[in-house]
Amino acid sequence: MSNLYWITDYLEETKAKWSTISDYIWDHPETRFEEYASAAYLRTAIQEEGFSITENIGGMETAFIAEYGSGKPIIAFLGEFDALSGLSQEAGKTIQNPLVQNGNGHGCGHNLLGTGALAAAVGLKNFVVENNIPCTIRFYGCPGEEGGSGKTFMVRAGAFDDVDCALTWHPSGITSVMNTSSLANIQVYFRFKGKSSHAAGSPHLGRSALDAVELMNIGSNYLREHIIDQARIHYAITNSGGLSPNVVQGFAEVLYLIRAPQTDTVMELFERVKDVARGAALMTGTELEIVIDKACSNYIPSNTLNLAMQEAMLEVGPTKFTGEEKQFAKDIQTTFSTEELNEAYIPLIGLTDRNTPLFEDVLAYDETVSLMSGSTDVADVSWVTPTAQCNVTTCALGTPFHTWQLVAQGKSSIAHKGTLQVAKILFLTAAKVLEEPELLLKATDELKQAVGDRGYVCPIPDEVQPAAAR
Ligand SMILES: [Zn+2]
Repeated sequence: MSNLYWITDYLEETKAKWSTISDYIWDHPETRFEEYASAAYLRTAIQEEGFSITENIGGMETAFIAEYGSGKPIIAFLGEFDALSGLSQEAGKTIQNPLVQNGNGHGCGHNLLGTGALAAAVGLKNFVVENNIPCTIRFYGCPGEEGGSGKTFMVRAGAFDDVDCALTWHPSGITSVMNTSSLANIQVYFRFKGKSSHAAGSPHLGRSALDAVELMNIGSNYLREHIIDQARIHYAITNSGGLSPNVVQGFAEVLYLIRAPQTDTVMELFERVKDVARGAALMTGTELEIVIDKACSNYIPSNTLNLAMQEAMLEVGPTKFTGEEKQFAKDIQTTFSTEELNEAYIPLIGLTDRNTPLFEDVLAYDETVSLMSGSTDVADVSWVTPTAQCNVTTCALGTPFHTWQLVAQGKSSIAHKGTLQVAKILFLTAAKVLEEPELLLKATDELKQAVGDRGYVCPIPDEVQPAAAR
């Protein structure tokens, strides 16, 4: 029996279980480091399969490792399960309709991400038991991907030190192996302390912290002209000092997210932003406190593992959808702008016509590494162990991430099909790694070269601890 036949059979028999898990996580959208219900549900599901659990990884209560087997190689599957705030949305609807006003929602499909990786890990466990293959299988329950860099904290704690390779994926509008790097980043609070006073009666006695925040932002906006094109500086004012204009604001805070293609470049930019903040404090007579929230590195894709994953993906073949599923996706697409849809077709020239609601193909693998405009904490894992990840169709083509439209599709049969599809791809990639030990040797060599003599340096300083969103 071929491995594909085996896993297809296994997932067909157990498919209700996987959609129950991903739907449960969708129903309990929890944000960074507070994913108690989701983490517990995943832990229980994999524990029932005979995996042993280690909780509280890297100081995060919702981070865990589930392990089965012993000895080498150690194959890791990475599963995320956190949601986003403000994205509550009714499932299956093609108009915006929050279930809870300002509630959380799975706007990045992580309910599927964790479940697909879990299904692959459990499938592989049953396969190696049946075939008596020595290895260790791990499922990493990875919290706080959205703005938390949970995996970076896990890597810093040494949770991946003995791992031989890591496999993961992301829900998407297309199906492809991700041969991309990603932007490294750092997220930092700048807190200004001034002096309150009556804004009309004694403004000369006050020192405005809000002025400092505004001047810092203006300074950073000027700085933007003089940084490399691929770098990004974003900010949010997280405390404006209160709601009263007749009070000189004695405290204000702004949160910065600085991104660039390499960790070193991020750190250089961070120093320049710090100077801008110091300048703002000097101009306003306020005191400045700088507090790092989190950071992550740039992603290093493993070409060797990617090629194995591409082979697996082609073997599995593209997901096929029904007329009803296509109609739902079409209805979702009517809510996108023309620009959004146009962007989605750019990498798909020749593969789809302009009226494609669901991507039913496999993108060809390109060995040239491209740069994705976002960041991911999978990056830090990729510095310490060869890592491969893919996209699999789980939603209408062109669906932007972090939107109500993605939440609306998170419990659909399209999403469920994609989750099973990726479980097959991750499983087959892992099975290939077990059958061809030279793949890991090659991938490890490749990574050593990419990382260089300096090795991995965690971008989060030791004293910074994971913190829930505020
Ligand atoms: Zn995501």
